[in-house]
Amino acid sequence: MSVEKINVIWLQGQGCTGCTVSLTGATHPSLLDILGGFLPQASGIVLQYHPTIMLPHGEEALKNLRAAVKGELDPFVLVLEGAIPDEGKAGEMGGFWCMIGEENGKFMTFNDWLKRLAERAVAIVAVGTCASYGGIPHGKPNPTGAKGAFQYFGKDWKSKAGLPVVCVPGCPAQGEHVAETLAYLVLAVRGFLPPPALDEYNRPLFLFDKKAHENCPRAGLFAEGKYSEKFGEPYCMGLLGCKGPIAHCDIPRRGFVDGVGGCPTIGSICIGCTEPEFPDEPFSPFFKKAPPSVYAVEAFHDIMGKIYALLHRLKRREI
Ligand code: SF4
Ligand code: SF4
Repeated sequence: MSVEKINVIWLQGQGCTGCTVSLTGATHPSLLDILGGFLPQASGIVLQYHPTIMLPHGEEALKNLRAAVKGELDPFVLVLEGAIPDEGKAGEMGGFWCMIGEENGKFMTFNDWLKRLAERAVAIVAVGTCASYGGIPHGKPNPTGAKGAFQYFGKDWKSKAGLPVVCVPGCPAQGEHVAETLAYLVLAVRGFLPPPALDEYNRPLFLFDKKAHENCPRAGLFAEGKYSEKFGEPYCMGLLGCKGPIAHCDIPRRGFVDGVGGCPTIGSICIGCTEPEFPDEPFSPFFKKAPPSVYAVEAFHDIMGKIYALLHRLKRREI
């Protein structure tokens, strides 16, 4: 599909707006790079609706949602932030969970807009763990029946451009993860790139193929058996409850804002915020140690690695 302009409609459901705040902290590329056309092949992205950072408000803002539903903003990428509630549950009590404006004197829920917009969207991106898998609102006992786009649409759902829902989890999602995924999808819609390869939970592999543990600067200390026994010590934090060995994430290597930060990198345990089960077991209680099986597998690989390294050292080297 050759298109000059691609619109973005960003809806917020059950969330805290943390993923939007995170996106404004992206640096490579930044939100300004994306919206200002700094990346030539990903230029022409127009943010038509965003509850937090758009200029229009009230009726003027709703006009853009209505235009998108009518097809006047095609092609558009639908970005979801926050979980999708079960409005049926709220209805039983005579209320609603998430409301976005009114139509003909009736409240419109987030779910009403989602249904209408999903049919027309060229791609859907779920930003953050709430939008992807339900996240914090979906945590036990989940009183609002919250779910993420992955469960709501299903793994095999396809947009009208043939793209599945792309999930960019994280609590919040890392800003560049969002910016890169949006840029990638725009390039895919324009035919410059194939659709992004996704893992079993629809996370882009170019961001989520490795575990936090594999990207952690403390992994060498883990391999040497040096463990922190209290916070503030500079060693592996497995004993303090770090879930890096079971969470897919590159933040410990990439950092959170402009290369700075990154959970275990700066002395905080990984709580597995990019995973579908978060914030429930096995990621909570957060300070409980990760299941022993992952450490057993790691220890086995470690022994294999040491044998391999030893054999390699004994081998004569030709220069
Ligand atoms: S601090 Fe966590 S992620 Fe880093 S090496 Fe230890 S267990 Fe792995
Ligand atoms: S390191 Fe762990 S807690 Fe930190 S962002 Fe990654 S998955 Fe989330």
